Amino acid sequence: MEVGYKKCTKCLICLAETEFAIRPKYPNKRQSWCKKCTAIGAKRTPEQERERYKQRVASGEILNKGIKMYPQRALLAQAKGRAKKCGIPFDLELSDIVIPDRCPVIGIELKRNPNGAGPIPSSPSLDRIVPSFGYTKGNVRVVSHRANTLKSDATLLELTQILADAYKLAAI
Ligand SMILES: [Zn+2]
Repeated sequence: MEVGYKKCTKCLICLAETEFAIRPKYPNKRQSWCKKCTAIGAKRTPEQERERYKQRVASGEILNKGIKMYPQRALLAQAKGRAKKCGIPFDLELSDIVIPDRCPVIGIELKRNPNGAGPIPSSPSLDRIVPSFGYTKGNVRVVSHRANTLKSDATLLELTQILADAYKLAAI
């Protein structure tokens, strides 16, 4: 691919296009200030940098980085990833994810893994009410990882069959 050139509107130097940050929403897909000018222009104190970072996390601009502070973000990011990978419908926003104190299915307290390494039975988990409707508005709720794993994507019939089988075995 041929590299184009463009003039920085700040330092007025003509530079290779790659010296400008990519901005997909901008008319020519690149920032108008070169990377060097942007870095100088954006110089902030460490306190300002921390504050800006917090704001970007809170606004959802930085999604994955906020996972530890905001469990809803983790659920949203996971669902989005799964939806993309598996071709499942997705139109959720952060406000659609409400984490109750307790699992609405098995009643245990919803608590994340304190080590942060992978889900534990009490971890909040996003459940699709009608699996085929996907991660869409009105079709999700937060349950425990335990309940979600047990249920998986079982249909009502399958769940009934599993229950009947469990009763049968218990009677032996
Ligand atoms: Zn410049």
